[in-house]
Amino acid sequence: MYNLKKLQILKRKISNQKRAELGFFPSPIYKLDNLSAKYDVNIYLKRDDLSGFSTFGGNKIRKLEFLFGEILEQGAKNIFTYGATQSNHALQTAIACRRYNLNPILYLVDVIGEGISDPKANILLDQILGAEIEIIDFKEDEDEFAAMYRAKEESKKYAQEISETEADYYLIPPGGASPRGTLGFVNAYLEMKVQEFENDLNFKNIFHATGTGGTLAGLTAANRFMNDGLKVHGINVSHKDDSYLEEVAELSTAALKLLNIEFELTSSDVIIDNNFVGEGYEIPSAEANRAVKIFAENEGIFLDPVYTGKAAAGMINYLEQEKLEKGSDLLFWHTGGTNALFAEKTILGDLLKR
Ligand SMILES: *Cc1c(COP(=O)(O)O)cnc(C)c1O
Repeated sequence: MYNLKKLQILKRKISNQKRAELGFFPSPIYKLDNLSAKYDVNIYLKRDDLSGFSTFGGNKIRKLEFLFGEILEQGAKNIFTYGATQSNHALQTAIACRRYNLNPILYLVDVIGEGISDPKANILLDQILGAEIEIIDFKEDEDEFAAMYRAKEESKKYAQEISETEADYYLIPPGGASPRGTLGFVNAYLEMKVQEFENDLNFKNIFHATGTGGTLAGLTAANRFMNDGLKVHGINVSHKDDSYLEEVAELSTAALKLLNIEFELTSSDVIIDNNFVGEGYEIPSAEANRAVKIFAENEGIFLDPVYTGKAAAGMINYLEQEKLEKGSDLLFWHTGGTNALFAEKTILGDLLKR
């Protein structure tokens, strides 16, 4: 049993943090009856895809609530962030800016190399929102990380150019994966614990897609601090080396530190599975597309090929290999991203192929 006192400590410290309101919480949680029967494990779904003021929700909203808490306090007007051209995080940032009358400036790396002459899905929505968009192409010998680094350097110069003082602008890191953004998922973990208690559940495993690590860092921080004994599995969606474990642990520690909690996590506290990345970020995989079809055909739930489909492929693999205890309670965290179903074919792959 987890430590109730520690839960209360976290709750109190989190509620003292500055925070903007960007969505509707708690997000719903319910049982996927058909998939549960199929695999003989009680599979619950946490619908963060339904959070947020716009039609298009997702996990970044939770992080942005805490980031915008700071942005509003600082009085920044020009809000910069970074991602791929189909970035869910960039879209959510632009939406949050419009809600608070701020100026969204998005530096978007053209990972799939198709430009934006025929805008689809998120890059279309970014333009409807009137966000200022800077497209970053790869230079020769550059990969996506190098291009992203260049984007950050360029954006800093531009931020200084258009802003009178330092306080006038705010740079949100890719995915909102700063210690402050990570607080969104420390808080989400507490939200989940209440729902678990109310529904008389006992989650043994959580599965979700991990990209920039903030979601995993937040959930893991709360989980380890409370000594909950539940496994938070981050299914990786992009190639990274082993230092990612360390980075996530550091992010967890730093988020708790913002709450004045000295509690150090190490890489051994973090669970990441690299087996479902496929060929890479935004590159469709047969397993992910199969998972998208399984969720749709069995539960009427839409996942996406870039994040949740890959995470679900991981979870389904564990279920099919019978690696999870029969009859136990499991949570799949739906982090959003379904707009990608309307993105470029390069991202979607051959979803309808059997
Ligand atoms: C960004 C994102 C993730 C990954 O979350 P991180 O906190 O960046 O690891 C997962 N799913 C969707 C749909 C996302 O947009």
